[in-house]
Amino acid sequence: MNIPTIDLASTPVELVIKAGPNCYRLSFPEVHLFLENQPPPPEENAFPLATSFRLPMKNPDLEWYEASQRYGPYVAQARALLQRTPFAFLLPHPALCADWNLESGGNTDLGQPLVAPFSGQVTSAYNWAGSVGRVIQIVGITPAGEVIVWAGWHLASMAITTGQTVHVGNDIGAIGNADGYYAGAHLHEQLCILNYAGIPKPNQFSGSDRRYNWQSPPAFYKAHGVDPDLVDRCTRWK
Ligand SMILES: [Zn+2]
Repeated sequence: MNIPTIDLASTPVELVIKAGPNCYRLSFPEVHLFLENQPPPPEENAFPLATSFRLPMKNPDLEWYEASQRYGPYVAQARALLQRTPFAFLLPHPALCADWNLESGGNTDLGQPLVAPFSGQVTSAYNWAGSVGRVIQIVGITPAGEVIVWAGWHLASMAITTGQTVHVGNDIGAIGNADGYYAGAHLHEQLCILNYAGIPKPNQFSGSDRRYNWQSPPAFYKAHGVDPDLVDRCTRWK
């Protein structure tokens, strides 16, 4: 796929992104993101470029593993057949998301603190209830012009609110189990490099709409400067 990029040197640049009923406007070099049918935010709401990335777990040196693929490769046809049966829980995620767990299992990671994986703006912090639960969505823009849309699901708590600016490493919340929906707490993470089909809804599952340019989170972090040894250690199977 040919990913469009924005030349920040040729300013001013303005992008309008349609996302369902909403229309977001991104402007450079002062980076703003706001709903078009609402007044522009105050100047201090400009958010910093995403110049560095990190894993969202505040304590990455603990014994993490990545569980989204543990039941085997993702097969879209099998998902379509099985997802409405009692065996749906056996279905793996697509590779384009990650489930972070502690090797100690169960709810031992419940309440583990999370931090912003990059600087940007919180576009949503909301409790969708059910299997999704509390979701934080953050949008960031890299100096290369990539627009990154990140989401963390099932959270036990959220330390930030919609519209807030975050800097990489800021506390954003804690790992949860969607208020008991899952037997084991974990962080469900997904992100895309926006390709202008729009910003996915915060509760939009990465496997369900391929218009969005979903990325494998571990591969994305490696490609954006996170220590590959750390990523490999955190993604090994239990
Ligand atoms: Zn998941």
